[in-house]
Amino acid sequence: MDILELYIKSFSAIFGLLVGSFLNVVILRVPRNQSIVKPRSSCPKCHKQIKWYENLPLVSYILLRGKCSHCKAKISWRYPLIEALVGLISLLLAPSSLNIEAWLNYIFYFSLACVFLAHFVIDVEHQLLPDKINLFFLIISIPYVLINFPLYHWLVGGLIGFLGPLGVTYFYYKLRGQLGLGGGDIKFFGILGLILGPVGILNNIFMSCMLGSIVGVVMILSKKLDKDVPFAFGPFIIIVASLQIFFPEVVELISPVGL
Ligand SMILES: [Zn+2]
Repeated sequence: MDILELYIKSFSAIFGLLVGSFLNVVILRVPRNQSIVKPRSSCPKCHKQIKWYENLPLVSYILLRGKCSHCKAKISWRYPLIEALVGLISLLLAPSSLNIEAWLNYIFYFSLACVFLAHFVIDVEHQLLPDKINLFFLIISIPYVLINFPLYHWLVGGLIGFLGPLGVTYFYYKLRGQLGLGGGDIKFFGILGLILGPVGILNNIFMSCMLGSIVGVVMILSKKLDKDVPFAFGPFIIIVASLQIFFPEVVELISPVGL
């Protein structure tokens, strides 16, 4: 590794840690419809404002030993975990040279990974894929697909991703009188369709439904889940999409048609 690569990788990791810290704010506030800019973060227990040096990703958690400096309330381990994870993702995705095209790809894939992570945690916690995050996802995806894919790929993929799940949800509603998928899931599928294309999105719908059904049945049987309580489906879409986008070799092993 030469010195330039070392600089780039260190910078990318630190940048990722900072974005991870911001992503914690997004995950906490967006589902509650609060601003992600103001006010500054404060301790949820004693409401003391957190100073900038108490808010350094990872470092502050370690120095504060996971407790609020004022009231000693425990800080959730989720914060440093997400910071570390986003730092690692940035490090792994960062190109090792200064090639512009590689960096444009990095911006897209790093943003995509952040969208996946935020959606995942928020959906598990609130059974919701917020519109604001879907809108951000759409905005970063449009230039990427216009540059990288032919019209048919993103147009047909997007239509299948949006109309397929919408149709299924409609029939499910007619049949059972309840919604199978939430509006957030349908919009998310639609945007993913732009990126994955027709075959990829069909694969995703099929595999995430399989995975969700298996996990759902296991959880109902083991009484971890009440079958009348809404069930977060987003994480299954995200797990499958992450495999398709970041680990296509794995998908080829599982799926006969590949990506
Ligand atoms: Zn406190």
